[in-house]
Amino acid sequence: APSPATATAGGTGKPAYRDASLPVAQRVEDLLARMTVDDKIGQMTQVERTEPASPADLAQYRIGSVLSGGGSAPTPNTASSWADMYDSFQSAALSTPLGIPMIYGADAVHGHNNVRGATLFPHNIGLGATRDPALVRRIGRATAEEVSGTGVDWDFAPCLCVARNDRWGRTYESFGEKPELATAMTTMITGLQGQSLGGSASVLATAKHYVGDGGTTGGKDQGDTRLSEARLRALHLPPFKDAVAKGVGSVMVSYSSWNGARMHGSHYLITDVLKKELGFKGFVVSDWAAIDQLDGQKDFTGAEISTAINAGIDMAMVPYEYPRFIGLLREEVAAGRIPMSRIDDANRRILTKKFELGLFEHPFTDRSWTSTVGSAAHRQLAREAVRKSQVLLKNASAALPLRKSAKVFVAGKSASDIGNQSGGWSITWQGAGGAITEGTTVLQGMRAAASDPSRVVYDRYGVGIDGSYDAAVAVVGERPYAEFEGDRQDGMGLDAEDLATLARLKASGVPVVVVLVSGRPLDVSARLSDWKALLAAWLPGTEGGGVADVLYGDYSPTGKLPVTWMRSADQQPINDGDGKPSLFPYGYGLSYGRARGGVGTHVTAVANDGGTR
Ligand code: BGC
Repeated sequence: APSPATATAGGTGKPAYRDASLPVAQRVEDLLARMTVDDKIGQMTQVERTEPASPADLAQYRIGSVLSGGGSAPTPNTASSWADMYDSFQSAALSTPLGIPMIYGADAVHGHNNVRGATLFPHNIGLGATRDPALVRRIGRATAEEVSGTGVDWDFAPCLCVARNDRWGRTYESFGEKPELATAMTTMITGLQGQSLGGSASVLATAKHYVGDGGTTGGKDQGDTRLSEARLRALHLPPFKDAVAKGVGSVMVSYSSWNGARMHGSHYLITDVLKKELGFKGFVVSDWAAIDQLDGQKDFTGAEISTAINAGIDMAMVPYEYPRFIGLLREEVAAGRIPMSRIDDANRRILTKKFELGLFEHPFTDRSWTSTVGSAAHRQLAREAVRKSQVLLKNASAALPLRKSAKVFVAGKSASDIGNQSGGWSITWQGAGGAITEGTTVLQGMRAAASDPSRVVYDRYGVGIDGSYDAAVAVVGERPYAEFEGDRQDGMGLDAEDLATLARLKASGVPVVVVLVSGRPLDVSARLSDWKALLAAWLPGTEGGGVADVLYGDYSPTGKLPVTWMRSADQQPINDGDGKPSLFPYGYGLSYGRARGGVGTHVTAVANDGGTR
């Protein structure tokens, strides 16, 4: 029998790995047999798009994967320039002797959020409030279409973190505090990948961050999750188990530690539990520059690389100074500290996904999807998700819904701000207030819903309010943040601007409705009695019209709390059952007309007829 390296398909002279009619496993073995150690090490290396001086550098180092870190976009930041960028990296990869295509990853964590003009869906915390796994699958599909239209083949989503402490700045990336809720929402994976990889607009999904990222002490980002193995398995493992069962293509390891030991070095959790026990067949990627933090110093050592690769990490995301990483990895292999069998296993896993995705047959951007970026159909879907994610927490004196003819005074820093309502991971990594991209603000949504837009008057600071209004709507809450910057050690209350705005509205005597735009519960206990109604809008993304649908009664709210709402910040972590009453329990949420999710709620019977009070 011919050796795999010389096997050709049907005597055509074409190497077997290039023959799409052969089983993937056979193509992988054929390719592996032709690869040098350098080729294999390159496949295990993922570089940030701005790091190589030119795409040709990729070819020189046989780099297998490129990514855009949060907000890292080509200029101009349009879908078609993303596609051009992708294609130029891909051309470089294909110019190598074996022509192995690269795979390009990005964080499309609430839609394709790095791309200007893309549809930004509610962040996961809002999707958790919808309790609608089928909707989340549809969002995954829409995201996959927009991502495909820019060439990107791999999405670092969904985050399956189970957020157990709202002080954690990544709480909004969680579907909620219960493992069963995060597990239900793994439908996102099916939406992104399709029923199996390789269909049209099929994008590789990532279950992240494995495991225990949402359970750190004090809610510290990248901190230490101190739990018994039984508790870790009960709270944080279930969504990953389900993700594996759904065929998720990749898993990203968490920066966090488990009982003091960094996850990136855990052979037990990565290899024994994830790969062997759960039977994960995809590949494991590190988090950004995480391997070089294993020893607490920000500088690579061969020992760190051996520890991580031997623990079961298959691809290193952004080893800064990748030529140095590649050199050290080569030395570790040559010295026998990383067995060749481990390198081959990593390559099999990565190449299998590349074959399954169809990258060898269709390496370039399928531009037929480019026009779906920010399409009307996707924005419609996002608006549906926004309405379904709203959680009505208080509604006294039938303050909501607003009559369409009501005279409404709108205030607050997030009423007219696409950036604030989108939160972190929106165009830039940490996000930013302002007109960062296209969409509909809450104010614009309200004006469109009102029978006469001129009846909806806006003043950000609430300065101009007088007593002539039927209602005042304050859209307040958190400014955007992402990793680290979102961690809070304070009282988790509203900021000074919001408090001043709310004080002005209160002084006017006009009934106040508060719309809270935030990534997590805030401490509102002291002021709740000032407000007639409180609506948790979470971080809705670009389609603020969905908030207006609820405010004006075009949609009677159905959202339920995905997290317990603390009475005060010292109740964090609230979900550990300290026995103290919360302000609103997990699962709480009112609608117009009947109560759901709890007893003793402020129920106001209002017909959902578009606004009759
Ligand atoms: C985050 C990941 C993200 C990665 C790539 C890291 O800092 O923790 O969630 O996927 O960056 O942008």
